[in-house]
Order: sequence, then structure tokens, then C-alpha cells
Amino acid sequence: MRLILLGPPGAGKGTQAQGLAEHFGIVHISTGDMFRAAIKNGTELGLKAKSYSDAGTLVPDDVTIGIVRERLGQSDCNRGFLLDGFPRTRVQAEALTEILKTLDMPLDAAINVEVDRHLLMERLTGRRVCRKCGATYHIVFNPPQEEGQCGVCDGELYQRKDDNEETCERRLDVYQNETAPLTDYYAQKEILRNIQGDQEIDQVFADILVALKD
Ligand code: ADP
Ligand code: AMP
Repeated sequence: MRLILLGPPGAGKGTQAQGLAEHFGIVHISTGDMFRAAIKNGTELGLKAKSYSDAGTLVPDDVTIGIVRERLGQSDCNRGFLLDGFPRTRVQAEALTEILKTLDMPLDAAINVEVDRHLLMERLTGRRVCRKCGATYHIVFNPPQEEGQCGVCDGELYQRKDDNEETCERRLDVYQNETAPLTDYYAQKEILRNIQGDQEIDQVFADILVALKD
């Protein structure tokens, strides 16, 4: 299974990606996670990405396309993959089409998780992430059993630097202008699956599985 997850920041892409990757036995590739790991490790990529990530704007296309091209060429992607947070611009979408054509690995579906903007702000500012394993929680909607502690690996939970109100507003604007139009690109390819993301996490998951059977 080869999938991309579209949808605004806070739609639940990462949350659903965890379950989908496990369900289908495919790799979960999150460009946001790749940038955060690079920033944490102080690599050259991290230095390039930091100012954009902190400001809530997009890392330049050439940098982003480069890391995805390299990642998709690795052998564990042969069994299938789930791209989370990529593509985010028309240029990235066209580059992805070209990369997958070269690899002879066409996409099965583009899952678009739809959530109204007024809900997204609450989801983003209440998000907590495990420092160790990356599992995602929400202080109200999906709280950990022990406050501040990951239920999967006991790691410490933290709040992402870009999950503050001001940066979230900017990220939602960037999504609206740059990424939302990509639904047309995938609708034209007849692989777009719209999913109602303002439901319980398990219901969203169930709807995605049904949509993938069509
Ligand atoms: P994205 O990867 O699209 O930015 P996340 O998966 O990190 O979004 O989810 C954003 C926040 O919303 C997290 O705190 C997560 O726990 C919470 N969340 C995800 N899905 C739902 C849902 N269906 N209902 C309520 N909260 C959710
Ligand atoms: P995310 O974890 O998906 O919310 O992404 C966090 C940040 O990483 C974004 O605000 C961007 O700065 C950067 N980023 C992630 N994916 C991309 C992408 N496909 N194109 C450009 N920047 C990205």
C-alpha cells in the first residue's frame, strides 16, 4: 500500500499514520519528524530547516524534495509507505509524481483528512508529543494515563515549539494557500479520498480503511 496523508496541521495525520503503518506493515515517513530530528541533532539539514520550522513556514521545496527522494529510494519502502506532511506544495506534488514514476511505485490513494479551522487551533495548542518514541497525545482529547508521561514507552511528553497560537495561525494560513489546492491535483488523478476528521480517533481510522477498499 502506497499512501499520502493530506490535511491541515492538527487534522490527525500523525495520529492516524501510527495505526495505518502498523495495520498495513508499511513505513511511516513524516517530513516534519525528519526535520525535527535533524534540528535536534544539529545536522546540516537541521540548520537549513530550523528557521522555517520555528516560524511555521515551509522549508524550501528543493531541500524537502531532496530528503523525500532519498528516503523513498531506500529498500524498506518497497513494501509500501505512508507519506505524512508531504507533499505540501504543487512543486512537491509534481516532483513526487516524477520520483514514483522512476521507482515504478504509483500511489494507491491520497487521504485527505478534513477538519474545520476552529477545531484545529484547540488540537494543536493541546498537543503533546513523546520525546522518546514520538507518540502523539492531547491534553483533553487523547490524554496519557499518567500526566506528562508516554503510555507506550514511559518517555517524557513535551509541547512542540511551533504549537503556540501565533505560529499555528501562520501554519494554518500556509496550509490554506499552498497545500489545500493539492486536493484538486489528486482528485484529477482519481485517487483522492476525503475523510471526515472531526470524529473520534477510532472512527476516523475505520473510515480510512473503508475508503481504501473502494
Ligand atoms: P497532524 O499530524 O495532522 O498535525 P496530529 O495527529 O498530531 O495532527 O493531531 C493533532 C492533535 O489532535 C494531537 O494532540 C492529537 O492527539 C489530537 N487528535 C488527533 N486526532 C483527533 C481526533 N480525531 N479527535 C480529537 N483529537 C484528535
Ligand atoms: P509538521 O510536523 O508536518 O507539522 O511539520 C512541521 C514543520 O516542518 C512545518 O511547519 C514546516 O516548517 C516543515 N515541513 C514539514 N513538511 C514539509 C514539507 N512537505 N514542505 C515544507 N516544509 C515542511
